[in-house]
Order: sequence, then structure tokens, then C-alpha cells
Amino acid sequence: MKYTIEVDREACIACGVCYGTDPNHFEGDADGKSRVHGGTTDGVSVGTFDDDLRDDAKRAADSCPVSVITLK
Ligand code: SF4
Repeated sequence: MKYTIEVDREACIACGVCYGTDPNHFEGDADGKSRVHGGTTDGVSVGTFDDDLRDDAKRAADSCPVSVITLK
């Protein structure tokens, strides 16, 4: 089933937890802020996936200290 990940990059505090936890879906930019692999990179980074790694993305979202990652 397809799912979408959104990262509010404006509110991201660049802690690195999400891309450390789940490098298949998230990566850090030059400032350490998170963005979704293959996704948009403006204010809100959005990417859609249909792989079987949704649980990894969920774990990363749940680990974000400022709760700026949304799974839909
Ligand atoms: S875990 Fe949250 S605050 Fe930390 S880099 Fe990822 S999106 Fe940003």
C-alpha cells in the first residue's frame, strides 16, 4: 500500500534521529535538516513510497523529538 511521508523542514531542529534511524526514507541536507529521499525539498518535504518499510518510517516519525514527521 502506498504511503506518504511529510517532514516540516521549517520546524525540524536538525537532530539527525530520523535519518539515523531510517536512512532508507530520510536524509540530512547540508544544514543537518531532514528531507525525504526522492521527495520535495522546500518548506515541507514530501515523498510517496510503496515499499515494505513503512514500520521503519513510523519508528522514525515516532522518534522525532519535535513531532514534525507525518505519515499518511
Ligand atoms: S528527527 Fe525530527 S527534528 Fe530530528 S532531523 Fe528528523 S525531522 Fe528533524
